[in-house]
Amino acid sequence: MGYADVLDEGGAPEEDEVASAAERRKATYQLANTAFELIAKHSTAPDPIAYAVWYAYAEGENGDLVERLEKELHKSDEISDYEINEIYKAFLEDNDVFEANMNIGAEFESSLAAASELMRESLKQNQEFNATLESVGDSLPGAADPTELKSIVADLISENQRMSQVTSDLSSGLNESQAMIERLNKELEEFQDLSLRDPLTGVSNRRAFDARLKKEISAATDSEHPFCLVIADLDHFKRVNDVYGHQTGDNVLTGFAALLMMRLKGADMVARYGGEEFVMILPDTKLVAAHNLIVKILHELRETKFVTVNSNKDIGQITASFGICAYQEGMTATELIEIADTKLYEAKETGRNRVKTHGIN
Ligand code: GH3
Ligand code: MG
Ligand code: MG
Repeated sequence: MGYADVLDEGGAPEEDEVASAAERRKATYQLANTAFELIAKHSTAPDPIAYAVWYAYAEGENGDLVERLEKELHKSDEISDYEINEIYKAFLEDNDVFEANMNIGAEFESSLAAASELMRESLKQNQEFNATLESVGDSLPGAADPTELKSIVADLISENQRMSQVTSDLSSGLNESQAMIERLNKELEEFQDLSLRDPLTGVSNRRAFDARLKKEISAATDSEHPFCLVIADLDHFKRVNDVYGHQTGDNVLTGFAALLMMRLKGADMVARYGGEEFVMILPDTKLVAAHNLIVKILHELRETKFVTVNSNKDIGQITASFGICAYQEGMTATELIEIADTKLYEAKETGRNRVKTHGIN
C-alpha cells in the first residue's frame, strides 16, 4: 500500500466537514445552555414551555418573539408565567420549533453517535498510518537511494502527526460535547419532571394524570389488563382553612397526599386533581382489591394526627370520601371519571368518611 492509497482510502471525513459538524453541534448546545441560563436569570417557571420560549429567544430567528420579549424585559427583569405562556401561544404553539426543542435530548444523542462514528473512522485511519509507517520502515534497509527514502519517511511522519492532531482535536471536542450533553439532558429531565408535578404536595399533577389515564385506557383495550380509578376528596376541608388558616390547610393536603403515596406500589399513580381532590390509577388491580386498599387508607387517615403549622395544636380528625370505578372495555376517560365521581358524591351524601365502589356498595 502506497502513500497516496492510504490518504484516499476509507470514509475519513474531510477536515472542514468535521469542523462544521462540530461547530453546528456546539452552537446547539450553546443555545440550549443560554435558554437554561435565561430561565434562571428571569425567574421563569422551569418548564418545557419556558424552555421553548427562551431557546427561541436565544436563537434570535423569530424576530416578532424577540421583539415582544424585549418589550417585556424592558418593563421588568422578571417575566410572569402568564406572559411566557402568552408568548408561547402567540409565536410557538403552532411552530415545529417547540417539538424540535422538546426532542433535543434525542437529537443530542444522535449527533453524539454521529460524532463518535467520525472519531472511530479517524482513529482507524490513524492506525493504518502507523502500520504503513512501520512497513515502510521495515523495507528501508534494502532501499536504493537513502536521500529519497529519508524524504518519504519525513513526509510520512509529518502526515502522521497531522492525523494525530486531527484525532486529538476531535477527541477533546467530543469530551467537551459529551459533558455538556449529559448536563443538558439532566436539566431537561428535571424540568420535564417538574412540569408534571404538583408543587405543593409533590405528587403528579392533573396534566400527568390525564396523559397516564389515556395510556392506561389504550393498554387496557389492547391487553385486557384491568385497572381501577379512585377519586378522593377531603371532608369539610373548607373548615380547616377557616378555623386554622390556609397554611395548616396546605399541611393537611401534603399529609394526605403522603399517606396516599405511602400505600401505593409499583405502577400505581396518585395525582392532585385540583383543590382538595386527588385521583389514583391502580393498574392491574381488581375492584375488590382497590376497595380493600381504600378501606385501609380510610382507617389510617382517621388515626393520623394533624397539627397547626404555627402552634402544633391538634386540629382533630381529618377524614375523606372516596369513589371507585373499574375500567370496563369501551369506556372513555370522561365516562370513567364521571362514574367514580358519582360514587364519590354518594359517599359524601351518605355521611362522608367512607368509600363507595361502583358494583360493590
Ligand atoms: P366537602 O366535604 O363537601 O368536600 O366540603 P369541603 O369544605 O371539603 O369542600 P369545598 O369544595 O366547599 O371546599 C374546598 C376548600 O378547599 C375550599 C378551598 O379554599 C380549599 N382549597 C383548595 N385548594 C387549596 C389549597 O391549595 N390549599 C388550601 N389550604 N386550601 C385549598
Ligand atoms: Mg372536600
Ligand atoms: Mg372538593
